[in-house]
Amino acid sequence: MANHKGRISTRSAEAFAEAKKVLPGGVNSPVRAFKSVGLTPVFVERGEGAIIHDIDGNVFIDYVMSWGPLILGHAHPEVVASIQRTAASGTSFGAPTLIETEMAKLVCERVPSIEVVRMVNSGTEATMSALRLARGYTKRNKILKFEGSYHGASDSLLIKAGSGVATLGLPDSPGVPESTAVNTITVPYNDLEAVKLAFERFGEDIACIIVEPIAGNMGVVPPQPGFLEGLREITKRYGSLLIFDEVMTGFRVGLNSAQGLYGVMPDLTCLGKVIGGGLPVGAYGGRREIMEHVAPSGPIYQAGTLSGNPLAMAAGYTTLKLLGEPGVYEELERKAARLEEGFRANAEEFGIPCTINRVGSMVCPFFTDQPVVDYDSARTSDLEMFARYFGHMLDLGINLAPSQFEGMFVSTAHTDEHIERTIEAHREAMGRLASG
Ligand code: PLP
Repeated sequence: MANHKGRISTRSAEAFAEAKKVLPGGVNSPVRAFKSVGLTPVFVERGEGAIIHDIDGNVFIDYVMSWGPLILGHAHPEVVASIQRTAASGTSFGAPTLIETEMAKLVCERVPSIEVVRMVNSGTEATMSALRLARGYTKRNKILKFEGSYHGASDSLLIKAGSGVATLGLPDSPGVPESTAVNTITVPYNDLEAVKLAFERFGEDIACIIVEPIAGNMGVVPPQPGFLEGLREITKRYGSLLIFDEVMTGFRVGLNSAQGLYGVMPDLTCLGKVIGGGLPVGAYGGRREIMEHVAPSGPIYQAGTLSGNPLAMAAGYTTLKLLGEPGVYEELERKAARLEEGFRANAEEFGIPCTINRVGSMVCPFFTDQPVVDYDSARTSDLEMFARYFGHMLDLGINLAPSQFEGMFVSTAHTDEHIERTIEAHREAMGRLASG
């Protein structure tokens, strides 16, 4: 069977049929099912550097990179060695270990606004816990988030969420109680006026604003000048907390994360993805005075059997150490900029509508002529054209996220040759789209 155009994908198709018997939709996270692009998902056998191999023997240059964590590429030898070394001494103790403090020190050193940090097991847990802390600390119930922003799959945050929810075209999720939903205010990203209006109306009840400092779940949408500063000012004025959800941007856009890049300091920061080096990790942290409200130093409860897991800490610590070597982010910037430039030239050559947003190694080509500054403008993209583009790129050996609302992640393992091969494939894909 040649599901992905020229590629044989018989075994992936069989594996998907088997998986569907025992997993909802055949997957453990919705976008993996390729539903929005109408194809059968690729079952991955192994990865090395920028490359993944599927179970049918196909080889792809990967830009999903586990949806962001693998900034050093697949199976980085030093990361793998650190996991192996640690595993040999035991995988979990539920007791303090030295690596947890080492890891926390590194995070506090590098993320400017974090003085104290709590490790958890996923980005979802990080944002959920940060919200509880914000609510407990301010003694207020409402939160403000932005349309098309995804902060994980917890109840309060699954309102007008981007990412998989946007990809599947789902409305706000069933199962979220009305009593929870009424406490979540949503306004358009990059719209300070809308934020001001919401605060004029509900300001005394708003515990926090939670924002992706670069929105990465409606494609890639950078903050407009003054937006983050405006959020900082408004939250300060009303006694609300500002939470940066840096689960995607943390250590992705720079060693000091997005807050370092834009020079705006939140009260709390959520991390995940890169800090786990490919293992399940999240974290939330911030000013000591706020974090001291978390149990056991304070009354706001949050806990986890596997939190601070030694393997995850080892993988994360090794990753962060390697990211601290000179020139890492400059190289990522150079390669991603080349990708952007090549893609833009290709789209122009074939007259395909294209707006490319990029911050560092996060790149997103939208199939629209309009500037993309928020969820509404992201949705002007031609999703049917994206689906065809996705299929062509897969056929040409390039693995992208199966969603217009997710960017590409360039890793340190992508060589100049990978980038040039990707640009060539993109040119071929543009040609195919232009000829219908
Ligand atoms: N926050 C942001 C900005 C994310 O991009 C994601 C995941 O994509 C999350 C939170 C949730 O993280 P996790 O999938 O690890 O629960």
